[in-house]
Amino acid sequence: MQLSQRITQLNGGGSDGWDVFYKARKMIAEGVPVTELTIGEHDIRTAAPILQAMHASALGGHTGYAMVPGTTDLRDAVAARVQARTGVPTTRANVLITPGGQAALFAAHHAACDEGDTALFIDPYYATYPGTIRGVGARPLAVAAHAGNGFQPRARDIAEKAEAAKSLLINSPNNPTGVIYGRDTLEGIAAVCRDQDLWLISDEVYDSQIWRGAHLSPRALPGMAERTLVIGSMSKSHAMTGSRCGWIVGPEEAIRHLVNLSTNTTYGVPGYIQDASLFALNQGAPMETEIAAPFQRRRALALKILAGQNAVGHVPPDGAMYLMLDVRGTGMSGEDFALALLETHRIAVMPGESFGQAAAGHVRVAMTIEDSAFASALETLCAFAATLS
Ligand code: PMP
Repeated sequence: MQLSQRITQLNGGGSDGWDVFYKARKMIAEGVPVTELTIGEHDIRTAAPILQAMHASALGGHTGYAMVPGTTDLRDAVAARVQARTGVPTTRANVLITPGGQAALFAAHHAACDEGDTALFIDPYYATYPGTIRGVGARPLAVAAHAGNGFQPRARDIAEKAEAAKSLLINSPNNPTGVIYGRDTLEGIAAVCRDQDLWLISDEVYDSQIWRGAHLSPRALPGMAERTLVIGSMSKSHAMTGSRCGWIVGPEEAIRHLVNLSTNTTYGVPGYIQDASLFALNQGAPMETEIAAPFQRRRALALKILAGQNAVGHVPPDGAMYLMLDVRGTGMSGEDFALALLETHRIAVMPGESFGQAAAGHVRVAMTIEDSAFASALETLCAFAATLS
């Protein structure tokens, strides 16, 4: 039977740059000890009190269909969190709860784009972005954010491609680069969105992982609340990746239509997951800070190690759980370097090329293992690069 083009073309074909990752996973499955610095997942599990709240909710009977837009209490809590961070008046009518940020990204593009529309995104990018855009029938078009510009996208580069586009997807703090978009960058982006009448889809799932400077949500910029769909998630802020709870915050009309999409796709998020998320959000900033702390510590360790060598360059990691290292001094591509590092030292990192062309010649290191093992792996990586330079 013939499958739809939409599903068979979802990943766009060609090499996806994930060979190193699959190779590392295969080595691990065969019992070879590999230091895994590939995937963006905490090395802690969801905190016990959150699980107890989940358990109590389920035992209390919240196991039936939950309200599709999300429970009233959780929508209120998300609205309050977003309003506190952005200063933009936000109520539950602006909030749709989704099964994770990924489902929110998909739904947001559904809301913004019709079949065949062009949807812009910034390269380097989180791996699912082009597939998400293709999944709604739109055409992904990358705008490069260059290493030479600290991976901050330039408004004029976006404007050049914006004329025929319907939406722009950005992500700050950024996966894979760890860069936080500055006010100038965001104001430039906002101006293009207003001038070219674009929806801005702002993926802010790392908004609790800020190491330097401040996170600014573009929804707070003049004229942007009416054209911005903010993507949020419990995954990174509360180490709840497996619980699948996220949200879209946007204009009331968009949310009203998105509720219909949820009714016809996911039918909402389990009530006990939403209650656990509400419990977690009600713990306030201290819990988010505690969950972010290991990455902050490892970032400090990394900066010390990187300062003591000159074989690899780095982009200042201002946020998120990743380091983007420049290995062009070795004369190798990110992919060749990552493969050689895996073969020689059994350390697995992601080639920059896995995240688009703009991060070629770089590797992404996830700061997701215990501090001393992390520091020693990074020292080994730098020493290895020095032997190649
Ligand atoms: N956006 C970015 C930038 C991510 O890195 C991730 C997960 N790694 C997601 C969205 C999706 O996260 P989730 O679906 O777990 O909320």
